[in-house]
Amino acid sequence: MGSLTFTSRIMESGITGEPMSDIASNVRSIRERISSAAAECGRSAGEITLIAISKTFPVEAIAAALAAGVECIGENRVQEAEPKILHFQGIASPEWHMVGHLQSNKARRAAELFHMIHSVDGARLARKLSAAASDIGKTLRILLQTDLGGEETKFGLAVDRIRETVEEIAGLPGLRLDGLMTLPPFFQEPERTRPFFARLREVGERLEHEQPGCLGRKHLSMGMTHDFEVAIAEGSTMVRIGTAIFGRRT
Ligand SMILES: *Cc1c(COP(=O)(O)O)cnc(C)c1O
Repeated sequence: MGSLTFTSRIMESGITGEPMSDIASNVRSIRERISSAAAECGRSAGEITLIAISKTFPVEAIAAALAAGVECIGENRVQEAEPKILHFQGIASPEWHMVGHLQSNKARRAAELFHMIHSVDGARLARKLSAAASDIGKTLRILLQTDLGGEETKFGLAVDRIRETVEEIAGLPGLRLDGLMTLPPFFQEPERTRPFFARLREVGERLEHEQPGCLGRKHLSMGMTHDFEVAIAEGSTMVRIGTAIFGRRT
């Protein structure tokens, strides 16, 4: 992916948004911050997957992130993601992650396009994804988006419904439940999100205690540009970083 031909093809494709060189150095600095945050709490940086969230940014910006070694790209809308994903077919093969709210009428297309869906918020959506994934012989990785009760938390499954949902999902073909995700309310002060991250980890631990193995890889998708270091300290295994890599969204 870092080959000269690939890089020069990106260079020639015209740059909009954050300049390429900035994206590459942003990726380097985020990786360093992930490593220090992990080291500070005695974790290995290798346990933490960086997902670059490219919503609103063009394929050139994604190409720059891929050239800088990013392997996972996240988008939050199926309609916006589709042309980007199709663009890279035959050029590069990142893992595509759907991190935004997913309407059930888009489930089939999402199951076809993405490798992982972070925003599964109930058994009904899971069944649609399962049917679509089975039809194309694919194993789709999913996370359960969990609503931890913040006032501004708009989507996700209430904590008291997670257990029954996990049980319902367990038998569905074509899906692999890999863990939990949360999108806490925004606080200026990142430390204020810590209780949400700690809570998601506890919810995961309790589920694993009650039904060992139910969360597959035990992933915790939590932490964004302004609070990912706190999330790592609380056990995050997937950080979703947009602004710090691609720049401000307009
Ligand atoms: C946009 C988005 C992100 C990235 O947010 P930044 O603050 O720009 O890092 C992460 N997760 C979800 C679900 C998003 O929609």
